[in-house]
Amino acid sequence: MYNFEFRNPVKILFGKESISKLSGEIPTDANILMIYGGGSIKRTGVYDQVMAALKGCTVEEFSGIEANPHYETCMKAVDVVKEKNIDFLLAVGGGSVLDATKFIAAAALYENGDPWDILAAGVAVEKALPLGAVLTLPATGSEMNGNSVITRAERQEKKAFGSPLVMPQFSVLDPECVFTLPDRQVANGIVDAFVHVMEQYLTFKVNSPLQDRLAESILTTLIEEGPKVLADRKNYEAAANFMWCATMALNGMIAVGVPQDWSTHVIGHELTAFHGIDHGRTLAIVLPGVMHVKRDNKKDKILQYGERIWGITAGNEDERIDAVIARTVEFFESLGVPCRLPEYDVPESTITKIVDRFKQSEAKIGEKQDMDYLEIEKILRNRL
Ligand code: NAP
Ligand code: FE
Repeated sequence: MYNFEFRNPVKILFGKESISKLSGEIPTDANILMIYGGGSIKRTGVYDQVMAALKGCTVEEFSGIEANPHYETCMKAVDVVKEKNIDFLLAVGGGSVLDATKFIAAAALYENGDPWDILAAGVAVEKALPLGAVLTLPATGSEMNGNSVITRAERQEKKAFGSPLVMPQFSVLDPECVFTLPDRQVANGIVDAFVHVMEQYLTFKVNSPLQDRLAESILTTLIEEGPKVLADRKNYEAAANFMWCATMALNGMIAVGVPQDWSTHVIGHELTAFHGIDHGRTLAIVLPGVMHVKRDNKKDKILQYGERIWGITAGNEDERIDAVIARTVEFFESLGVPCRLPEYDVPESTITKIVDRFKQSEAKIGEKQDMDYLEIEKILRNRL
């Protein structure tokens, strides 16, 4: 195990009717900006529940945060924050709304030029407005972490930043929000949470049996509960277990003391940047390629994952690794998520564009920071 420091200050309010507890978490004299997306919260009743809980509070609204939130839209919200002297941000929605709110919180107080530098140049966040969240879509873990991913649409760039200063002060998780999700978003959420675990588990092996088993327990629970949610959207217990899995997959708990990869996410972000493919789906495309190309580095963990999660024990090591990759693809496909580039109409020329970006930046990614553009090309070609 590696040395680590760990602190997660996000208060979770989990369960039925938890949205009604909202007002107790926000200072009574706060000037609140409620931030949301394209209007699903109005159709689902979440908007009314939030407004009822905030009765008597001063609330301004900013709507229209897109899936894969745009920098340009976030900057419009920053203008509203400044105009209306907002001092508390409340995100109501999925990962996109939460991520946008985190960026708005940091950008509103940024004094060193263009806040895009926080994303593109890795400039550290020094201050941010306080924020809270009502999560309506289990997937990203954004409700209990300090990460945010923002797209600059005009440049086809999707970039991430992280800071403890943008961790929500609280997140409300009502599993009944899952009841209104379309199949596609449930499937995306299962895959996103699953791959978050894989990024922190399927690396080279260190001696961390507890971390391994924590990760494996989240994978197993997603495999058991995810299909139940897809089959019956009103199954509260399955929804609740799925929701908590997604939070636990990326709240820092399984990351401590172990290596982390994140190459599947970094490459997946490029597919969203160029083609707008849903985040979870990009991961289902890329992960099998990463497992294939990085099979030597990850051998011990792929074999362990295959045996403990899927019961794969027959054959020599290479045959088992191939079987483990095939079984993982089969799971994603069983959720209705295709795993190959042509299934999303991605042409070969996109591979060239993505590989060129990594070549020009000379960036190396992955658990050993040794994955270069040549390997990224192999990974993407494996998915044709
Ligand atoms: P999302 O983009 O937030 O939402 C997808 C769609 O689902 C939207 O159209 C949204 O509608 C709708 N929706 C949300 N809740 C709903 C509900 N309860 N009922 C019906 N429809 C609902 O999806 P997401 O997968 O949660 O977030 C994806 C983003 O998070 C990507 O940009 C990804 O890169 C990022 N991400 C962040 C992290 C992190 O750690 N911060 C990790 C992984 C991924 P509305 O527009 O009306 O809200
Ligand atoms: Fe993700």
